[in-house]
Amino acid sequence: MTIKEIDKQYIANTYARFDLQLVSGKGSLVYDETGKEYIDLGTGIAVNGFGVGDTAWKEAVIAQLDKIQHTSNLYYSEPCALLAKTLCERTGMKKVFFSNSGAEANECAIKAARKYGEIKKGKDHFVIVTLKNSFHGRTITTLSATGQGVFHEHFTPMTDGFVHAEANNFDEMQTLIKTHKCCAVMIELVQGEGGVMALDKAYVKQVERLARENDLLLVVDEVQTGNGRTGSLYAYMSYGITPDVVTTAKGLGGGLPIGATMLGERVEDLFTPGLNGSTFGGNPVCAAGALSILERIDEALLLDVKEKSEYIFAELSGAKGVKSVSGLGLMIGVECERDAGEVIAACKARGVLVIKAKHKVRLLPALNIPFEQLKKAIKILKEECEK
Ligand SMILES: *Cc1c(COP(=O)(O)O)cnc(C)c1O
Repeated sequence: MTIKEIDKQYIANTYARFDLQLVSGKGSLVYDETGKEYIDLGTGIAVNGFGVGDTAWKEAVIAQLDKIQHTSNLYYSEPCALLAKTLCERTGMKKVFFSNSGAEANECAIKAARKYGEIKKGKDHFVIVTLKNSFHGRTITTLSATGQGVFHEHFTPMTDGFVHAEANNFDEMQTLIKTHKCCAVMIELVQGEGGVMALDKAYVKQVERLARENDLLLVVDEVQTGNGRTGSLYAYMSYGITPDVVTTAKGLGGGLPIGATMLGERVEDLFTPGLNGSTFGGNPVCAAGALSILERIDEALLLDVKEKSEYIFAELSGAKGVKSVSGLGLMIGVECERDAGEVIAACKARGVLVIKAKHKVRLLPALNIPFEQLKKAIKILKEECEK
């Protein structure tokens, strides 16, 4: 049996995989089982921020593996403590809870919001306003937070306490907050799975003010936008807001699973022993990898991300067969006249990997993709859009 056949027989049928098996790679080049080379503009969904087999990241991970691979949270561990310190120093947040995924990071944020509501306004203030078209994860509660009905089908009843406002519609947000007993607002600044839509800056500032005026937590889901992806270390930094809770995951571990929930001043003392936990959370190997990634997301790299972003926008905006280009930094959605699935398949045949978000082609290249490879890939995408 081939790997594809074994996969089909034994792996739960939850993924519509591309007909492609990836076996190795280096940087932004990846290879399938026949040795065919691809320029990767998907990075395992914004995870491999420095591409495949990044040397410094690998060394950090292996050095930690040589010491100890897991300690549990019953004990202190250096990589975990240093990663939390680095995250706080670079964001101004006060404390970090570590988990293993974006969904779990958001679960922790939701717990924080509910406890905050309880303390400030009473147990009945547990409603969290999220946005339509958002995506916050696959657990039942983060699905409930996700403002897309199709994800709720088959799994009802959903967790109570989530209402969804249209993105960029401040009036609707205001009305929902007035008519519900709320504890928090939770938003993605660039909706990823929802179609790579960046929220308006003025709207986000208004939402921040509204949250303050009503003593609600402002939770920003940076699972996808974080860790340099949008051209800032975290996207909220380019929106000029100060969230109370920031969650992140995908790009943080450089390819290893780690989630982080960063808690600001208002909530730093909210959790006490026993209120949350995770066996694997803050795993030393993942934390060591993440530390190496964060250390390298500096001003020079972020400038580079912005330049590459400008290049992609300039190449594709208004190009033949391209209806629109959306997003921020190296998180880009391309709406084509051709069916997105067709464009993606054609690009794959020509050695370029891109992925989908709703009806758009989504680009999430490595932050350090060599310009030459990026140019070559964008040229192919552009040609396929034209057809
Ligand atoms: C991917 C994603 C999640 C879920 O992360 P997992 O690691 O798959 O649990 C949550 N929120 C956003 C914005 C995401 O892009």
